[in-house]
Amino acid sequence: MAENGSQKVFVPDLFVRAKEVTFDVVLGELGLLDQLKIVGDEIRGKCPLCGGERSFSANPVKGVFNCFRCHKKKDVVDFVTFYRKVEPKQAAEWLVSLLPPAQDVVDDQPELENEISALGLSGREVRLLQVIKRANARCVAAMFSSSFARVVEQLEDMARQIVTEEIAKEFPDTVFLEAGE
Ligand SMILES: [Zn+2]
Repeated sequence: MAENGSQKVFVPDLFVRAKEVTFDVVLGELGLLDQLKIVGDEIRGKCPLCGGERSFSANPVKGVFNCFRCHKKKDVVDFVTFYRKVEPKQAAEWLVSLLPPAQDVVDDQPELENEISALGLSGREVRLLQVIKRANARCVAAMFSSSFARVVEQLEDMARQIVTEEIAKEFPDTVFLEAGE
């Protein structure tokens, strides 16, 4: 029997799981990315904690942040604890709520997951690689669809010109309307 009513369900790896949430996700979720920018591996800019201009940096790969003005630093749990002014446990619970259900990640990308875990990367790094992979796929798709549309346009122009030439050869007295008339 619990000694008091405040006892909650014990989550054994709460803090470990909370730290799997990357800074890009945390800062995005808190609506803070507008005041920050990505510079190499880091997200930098105005400190969300003290408002110091250009004093904040967070590294999603290493899972750490630092502000040289208010001197607050460390991991995502600490950041959320400071930012939301809550207890570390509450911060960790909020972070865990941002994680996709563990099942989904495994089902989604079993091959990638195995390949990467064979490299000995942490869950955070695996997730970051998945984000990059997804972004790359979207980028390639966008590039392909835009250049494909241009090629189709050029082919249509070319086809129109060839047809016009053939008709002109066969029926020399044909009068062609200029495009757009
Ligand atoms: Zn600061």
